[in-house]
Amino acid sequence: MGTEVTVLGLGAMGSALAGAFVGAGHRTAVWNRTPGPAEALADRGAVRTASAAEAVAASPLVVVCVSDHDAVEEVLGLPGVDLTGRTLVNLTSGSPPAARKTAAWAEGRRVKYLDGAVMATPSGIGDPAFMQLYAGSRADFEDSRRVLAALGDPVYLGADPALPSVYDTALLGLLWSALTGWLHGVALLGADGPGGGVPAAVYTEVAGRWLDTVGRFMSAHAPQVDAGRYAGGEFPLELHRRTVEILVHAGELRGISSGMPELIRDLIGRAVAAGHGGDSFARLVEFMRPGPAGAAAP
Ligand code: NAP
Repeated sequence: MGTEVTVLGLGAMGSALAGAFVGAGHRTAVWNRTPGPAEALADRGAVRTASAAEAVAASPLVVVCVSDHDAVEEVLGLPGVDLTGRTLVNLTSGSPPAARKTAAWAEGRRVKYLDGAVMATPSGIGDPAFMQLYAGSRADFEDSRRVLAALGDPVYLGADPALPSVYDTALLGLLWSALTGWLHGVALLGADGPGGGVPAAVYTEVAGRWLDTVGRFMSAHAPQVDAGRYAGGEFPLELHRRTVEILVHAGELRGISSGMPELIRDLIGRAVAAGHGGDSFARLVEFMRPGPAGAAAP
C-alpha cells in the first residue's frame, strides 16, 4: 500500500492520532475492530484496511492505541498479524508490568518496540505544545521521530519500556494536586470580598504566574532529593507548618475544604515532630517512601 504508518484502534484517541498523521501528510493505513471509525478516516484521506494483518503489513511503523493491554494482546494475536522487522509503538495506557510484558513479546519476535504515553486529550493531538512520552531503544525512537512528531512533541525517556506508564501516572498526580490546590483557591477567593468574591478568571491570572514560582521550587528541591540532603534555607519546614495552619484556618472560617491542606499539615507535622523542622519541604519525600520515615537520613 506504500503507507508510512499504520494505526490500529480508532477510538477517540486512535482516530485523533490517525487524523494527525494524515493531516501532516503521512500516508496512513487504519484498522479498527468495528468498521465505522475507519470509514470516517478514509473520508479524510487514510487508507482503510480489511484486517489487522493487512494493516500491519502495510507500513514499517505501526501504532496501536486500544482500551488496555489485554486488548493490545488480542489485536496482536489476530490471525495473520506479523510484525517481524517492523516498529510497534504502543500508545495504550497501562501498567509497568504490562509494558514490560509487551516489550518481551516483541523482543521474542524481532519486533522493534517503543512504549508510549499520550499526555493530551484527543483535541490536543497534533499540537506541539503537548508531549507524547516514549521509551525503548533510542535508535528505534530516532528512526520514528520524524513521523511521530506529527502527534505533538515526542519526548524520549530511556530504554526501560515501563517508564512512560510511571511518568504518565506521576504527571497525572501532579495535575490533580495542582488543580485541586487551584480550585481550593478559587473557592476561597470566590467566598471573599464585598462584591461577592473574586471571579475564578481574575484569580487565575495571578495563580498562573504563581505556577512559574512553583516550578522554581521544584528545580531547587530536585538536587536536594537526589543528594538526600535538605538544607532548609530561608523557607524551612517549621515555617511551612505555621503557614499551612493559616490555609487550614482560612478554609474553616469559610466552610471550604478540599482535604488537601489538612493532609499537607499532617505530613509536615510528622517531619517536624521527627526533628526536621529546619529542613526544606523536599525532606517530605522521605516520609512518603516505605521504611522508617526519614529516620536514617542525615
Ligand atoms: P475509546 O474511545 O474507548 O476506544 C477504545 C478503542 O479500543 C476502540 O477502537 C475499540 O474498538 C478498541 N478495542 C477495545 N477492545 C478491543 C479488543 N479486544 N480488540 C480490538 N480493539 C479493541 O478509548 P480511547 O479514548 O481511544 O483510548 C485509547 C487509549 O488511549 C486508552 O488506553 C486510553 O487510556 C489512552 N488515552 C486516552 C486519552 C483520551 O483523552 N481519550 C488520553 C490519553 C490516553 P471498537 O471501536 O471496535 O470498540
